Amino acid sequence: MNKKLTIALVAHDQRKVDMVEWAVFNADTLSRHTLICTGTTGGLIRKAFVEKGVDAEIICMNSGPLGGDAEIAALVVRHQINLAIFLIDDLNPQPHEADIQMLLRQCRIHNVPIACNRYSADLMITSSLWDNDDYKPSTPRYVKFNRE
Ligand code: PGA
Repeated sequence: MNKKLTIALVAHDQRKVDMVEWAVFNADTLSRHTLICTGTTGGLIRKAFVEKGVDAEIICMNSGPLGGDAEIAALVVRHQINLAIFLIDDLNPQPHEADIQMLLRQCRIHNVPIACNRYSADLMITSSLWDNDDYKPSTPRYVKFNRE
């Protein structure tokens, strides 16, 4: 991919092992983009990258439960995020559920691709559409539907 993206990376505690593994697997690609992470996720990725000798631009927001998801959602609203990887813990309740739903909703509203598992993340990060200037993403339409 030639285009330089701003990629948001967020992982809940029980998904952090997966996120670090995914980031290391994709380290070559990720090192060519700007990474915006919630605090703890970003710290773990930075540590793993230092250990592997990977040089990447990693910007850490607050920790998720303290507003990091909300900060990233605000960047989505301002169209400053191209892609979000959000590994959610679907098996345990989260104290910041409202912020999680806000981040997901703003990605849908503002048409930002968001991957919630590694398979989706791999597909999105390897898509050739990023560099295809002829491809214009369709935007969500909200059309009244009459059920008759
Ligand atoms: P963290 O936040 O990376 O600071 O743990 C992630 C989250 O819980 O949303």
